[in-house]
Amino acid sequence: MIKGSFKLSLLAKRKIEFEKRSVSFLIGLFIGLILFFTPGSVEAWKPNTHVYLSLLCRQDALDDGRLIIYEMDYESRQILRDAQGRLVEIGRYEVDPFILRAIREYPEHLKAGAVGTDLLPDLVTAQTIVHPDNSSLGKIISDQWLTLIWKEARKSYSPQAIAFAAGYLAHGAGDLFGHTFINH
Ligand SMILES: [Zn+2]
Repeated sequence: MIKGSFKLSLLAKRKIEFEKRSVSFLIGLFIGLILFFTPGSVEAWKPNTHVYLSLLCRQDALDDGRLIIYEMDYESRQILRDAQGRLVEIGRYEVDPFILRAIREYPEHLKAGAVGTDLLPDLVTAQTIVHPDNSSLGKIISDQWLTLIWKEARKSYSPQAIAFAAGYLAHGAGDLFGHTFINH
C-alpha cells in the first residue's frame, strides 16, 4: 500500500516536472518568436551591456556632478585626440542634483530601469511597440512612452522612481544610438 502510493506520488511528481519543462519551453519559444518577428528591433546590446553603460554614466556623474561626452573615431574605435594628444570633448553636462542623489543612493533601481526597457510594461509591448521604429503609425510611441516614464517619476518626487527612470532612459538613449549605428 505504502509502496503503491509512493509510486503514484513519484509519477505525479514526474508529470509536474514534465509540465513545468513544457511551460518553460513554450515561454522560451514565445519570447524567441516575438524577438525574431519584431521588425527593426534586433537587439544592439544585451541587457547586461545596458546595465554596464548605465553604471558607467553613474560613475562619471558622481565624481564631479557632470557627464562628459567625448568624440569617437569610429574607424579606430578610440576616443579622438587633438594635436596635443588630449581627448576631444563634445561637451560637459551638469547633472540635476536630485537625479545625482537618486542614482547615488539607489544604484539597484538604476540597474532595474536599464533592464526594464526591454521588459516593461510587458515583454510583448516592449518589443513590438516601444522598441521598433513606429514613426509610420503617425505617432512616436517610443518617445511618448519614455516621456511618460520620466514625467511620472518626476511627479512622484521619489528618488527610487527617478533612479529607475534614469536607467530606463539610459537604455533608450543607448538603443537610439546602438540600433541606428548597427542597422545603418
Ligand atoms: Zn532595448
